Amino acid sequence: MREAIDTARQWVFDRVEALRNRLGRDTTNGNGAKRVLVHEILSIQVLSAALFGGLAIASLYWGGQWVLQDNYGRWALQWTEELNELGSPLYLSDDGEALIRLESFVERYPEIDRVSYYDEDGTALFSVHNADLGEPVQALTTAKLADATAVIGEKKPYIMDSNLLNPRQFEILAPVWTESLVGDGLFDFEPADLAGETKTELLGFVGINLDFVIFHDRLLANIKGAILVLLILLIGFAAYGRRALQRALASISDLQEPIKELAKGNLGVKFNPAEHREISDIVEALETTASALSERDAKLLEMANHDSLTGLFNRRRFTEELKKEIISVMRKGHTSALLFVDLDQFKYINDACGHPAGDRLIRKVADELSRSVRRDDVVARFGGDEFAVLVRRTDIHGATSSAETILSNMRRMAHIEEEQVFHVHCSIGMAMITGENLHYDEVINQADIACREAKSAGRNRLSVYEYTKSASAEDNADVGWMNRLRRAVDNDEFELRFQPINRIHTGETTHHEVLIRLRGEDNTIVSPDAFLPSAMRFGLMTEIDFWMIENATKAYAEYSVPARSLRFSINLSANAFENDDLVDHINRCFEKYSVDPGDIIFEITESLAVRHPMHVERQIAALRDMGCRLALDDFGTGYSSFSYLQKLQFDYIKIDGTFVEDLLNNPVDQKMIRLIAEIGAEAGMETIAEYVQNAESMALLAELGVDLAQGFFVGRPTRKPEHKSTPISLNSRRTKAPSL
Ligand code: GH3
Ligand code: MG
Repeated sequence: MREAIDTARQWVFDRVEALRNRLGRDTTNGNGAKRVLVHEILSIQVLSAALFGGLAIASLYWGGQWVLQDNYGRWALQWTEELNELGSPLYLSDDGEALIRLESFVERYPEIDRVSYYDEDGTALFSVHNADLGEPVQALTTAKLADATAVIGEKKPYIMDSNLLNPRQFEILAPVWTESLVGDGLFDFEPADLAGETKTELLGFVGINLDFVIFHDRLLANIKGAILVLLILLIGFAAYGRRALQRALASISDLQEPIKELAKGNLGVKFNPAEHREISDIVEALETTASALSERDAKLLEMANHDSLTGLFNRRRFTEELKKEIISVMRKGHTSALLFVDLDQFKYINDACGHPAGDRLIRKVADELSRSVRRDDVVARFGGDEFAVLVRRTDIHGATSSAETILSNMRRMAHIEEEQVFHVHCSIGMAMITGENLHYDEVINQADIACREAKSAGRNRLSVYEYTKSASAEDNADVGWMNRLRRAVDNDEFELRFQPINRIHTGETTHHEVLIRLRGEDNTIVSPDAFLPSAMRFGLMTEIDFWMIENATKAYAEYSVPARSLRFSINLSANAFENDDLVDHINRCFEKYSVDPGDIIFEITESLAVRHPMHVERQIAALRDMGCRLALDDFGTGYSSFSYLQKLQFDYIKIDGTFVEDLLNNPVDQKMIRLIAEIGAEAGMETIAEYVQNAESMALLAELGVDLAQGFFVGRPTRKPEHKSTPISLNSRRTKAPSL
């Protein structure tokens, strides 16, 4: 038993030590491994089981002892009741029979060690015993005799002594006495005498030695048995508790792997169904978290790949698709095409109806583009009003036909905003993906260059990138132009030309359009079509415009003669209007060369007028305040919206040359010109027709109501402003007085 307790104690100590070591350290042990929660909980369970078990066993053991001890005292007290009976051998006449009765009595009670008898002076007479106490009965000591004698006649007729060394042993000593009436008359006994005096006669003493060791050992054996049973039960419960706890905690341990997987980003991780509510709640929360994360991932993926406005692929994703296509082209040897689509003058709808309207149009265009391509092709929004289409597995004819389909579908598309109908055209640049351009950047760049070409060529058309001029040659050309133009601005390498504009019904020159040329090598002259697109690309337009203003006003001063008024029409680009110095610069030049502002007309293009109305309006107001006039250039090519005509208060509308070139054969152009002329007249503006090549055109223009003409028939651009009369057209219907 003791060994078992020692072993258990040692085990508990070991566990406590282990736990203390773990708790005393950091959250990681020396090897860097984390503490294990399950182990800790199990250790606490074992420790508490051991502690409570130990307490239970100790209280059972010590409590049992204490109860026994208390009971021995009570039993011993009960024995004092028997002392009268036991004293009978001292006063019975038949000693022998009393002794026999006594012996059988003593035998019946194993707790009686010995019953001893003493005469009245304490001398030991005899004894009856169950156990041999090792020494004969001694005479009573004087002290005991005195004590025992003192209780004669008392209610407490004994002295009891318990052995201090062995509390289970008791010694009880009692006097045995007789009590009789004093008047000894056995025959004349009167009950009344009972109240009289009595005589007490001491017969001797009886002592009894009790030892409850038998009961004690028996009970102690039972207690130990009970403790053993308790211990077995405790160990059983602890083992069961440990297993139950392990099972319960297993669901926590089971979470470990899936949570690790979750942390690694594996959102498809599966959790075992939990039996316990708490774990089930945790599992549910983790599953909800995982699915929320999956949803968010899906959203992020959507955002990473798609354009939020149109839902089309974005530039990033498109580039991925393009890379894959390039690899496919490389491996399989087929060709594909990239179309770069940029909407024409899209800013107009933003300016006219606001950004949300622009957004709606972009969405509509996106849908239209998706409908226009084959299922396998990829459409993406590159940003702003730029889209890209990857036409897979196609040759140049297939790709061209795809681009044409897009162009014609876009031409048919009409978008209504605020009761206005918008027709959005687009310019498409196409680059074939062949074995020659195997880098995606290169392909995009080529399509972009082709798109810019389509824009410069008049928009609403397709331009195919030509491989004959390699990209680097193109770049070199661009860079070359940039250096060249910069040098030209710095060194005055531009030249001016003056083209007359005549009033049709008088044949007189009213003013000259000032044109720019670049002086090339070997005294060649480069036309603006060759260098202006590059100037725009490299942001040199403002400087060229400013150069123009300076030199045109200088020429004004140079060629002005008092006899004949000189009026100039100067082109200004959008870039010039974006520069806040524009008006100051013009003012400075006017002052420097004593220019009458009324002699200067500024021409701005239709696209500039619709694109930047607010900005342009402010600058135009300043120019008007100075006294300058204003012409709207290239009218009819773009939106031909008349709403801004009045808003910006132009003095002239220049009808785009494309309407005039083939005027004699084209009734549509004739109608268009007539309409423009009528509207211009209504709005108080004069109309100027460009590209007038012959007298017939001039006559027809007069009939259509156009006021002024410009073109080779009127006069080619010359180095100096020349006044050249044209034949007066008799067909002119206009009677309005000339404003110039
Ligand atoms: P061009 O014919 O030369 O292409 O002229 P454009 O007016 O189309 O001008 P450009 O392509 O240079 O610029 C595109 C404009 O589209 C610029 C910006 O005002 C507008 N834009 C860009 N992104 C958005 C958008 O998300 N929503 C709207 N509504 N407008 C946009
Ligand atoms: Mg555009």
